[in-house]
Amino acid sequence: METSLFPSPDEKALHFCASLLQEGRLVVFPTETVYGLGANALSEKAVQAIFEAKGRPQDNPLIVHIPDISFLSVVTEKISPEVERLFSLFSPGPLTVICERSSRIPPIVSAGLPTVGVRIPAHPLAHKLLTLAGLPVAAPSANLSGRPSPTTFEMAIRDMKGRVDAIIDGGPCEHGLESTVVMVKENKVIILRPGAITEEMLREKGFEVVLPEEKSHERPLSPGMKYTHYRPHAEVYLSHHLDEKTLEAFCKGKKTAVVGISPPVGPWERVVFPDVASYARGLFATFARLEQQGTEVIILQAVEEKGVGRALMNRMRKASGNRWIEANDETFSQ
Ligand code: AMP
Ligand code: MG
Repeated sequence: METSLFPSPDEKALHFCASLLQEGRLVVFPTETVYGLGANALSEKAVQAIFEAKGRPQDNPLIVHIPDISFLSVVTEKISPEVERLFSLFSPGPLTVICERSSRIPPIVSAGLPTVGVRIPAHPLAHKLLTLAGLPVAAPSANLSGRPSPTTFEMAIRDMKGRVDAIIDGGPCEHGLESTVVMVKENKVIILRPGAITEEMLREKGFEVVLPEEKSHERPLSPGMKYTHYRPHAEVYLSHHLDEKTLEAFCKGKKTAVVGISPPVGPWERVVFPDVASYARGLFATFARLEQQGTEVIILQAVEEKGVGRALMNRMRKASGNRWIEANDETFSQ
């Protein structure tokens, strides 16, 4: 498939991409979380093409993106006052709310579930594209299934060129991690996937919040949580202490990178982030860059599980398969 690339997209490019969506074609577009692989959410055939382009398992539901709350009535059935409050407080933004699915949304979108995940992205290009298309757009992250989500135009091209009709450049994504996914049950907000809308932000607005159980073996409420995700080709490990001697013994003879807020100096590449938000923003792009350089071992410095740190730790656990260097640390090893 020929893929049209749109670096610095102008009005004309966005009109063209909106018309592609109306024709049932696939368009990769930037959002404030990660790049999305979009198709008309009202067309079963268009949505089927998303699963094929990504190699995504059919039982992993997609998030439907809408330009504004006026589209809620198209994609959902009656919504509760709590859901309405979530949208009014945190949308547009990196929050996906699980709602009752309207009959206009074909079952394939949500893997046959009676619900649908809905998000109103804040990125101006995403907003413009959705408004011009005038459609709800189903869009998972624009990576091949199981791989880290693209957070730059270049990463989106690497995974999706030849598989989609167009890719729109929006520069590096602001948050760099996928949206927070929540579900409201008995007036409580259950976080199914942590993201940039944090537990603390929800509590501050008076919501009672239930957190995801990272190590639970129960059937997950959010089907996507059971898949290995975000995995680069290199071996990835987590570490709390980054003890130099342990690291040296651990990565001897292998091309290694140590990534975090305070990685020690040693015979490895250091990737230093000034704070947790930058670490979250840059994690997936760092994986892509290190992979291109042929890095064999990536060691990720753990962060405190609060604020965005919770979402960052969730993705880093998945990328590493929850393997820790501190083999004797009972609190944190697998
Ligand atoms: P992605 O499209 O890659 O951002 O992944 C979407 C995430 O949202 C996955 O973890 C899905 O399992 C989750 N999700 C989407 N729709 C639903 C739904 N209706 N119910 C529960 N989880 C959902
Ligand atoms: Mg994804």
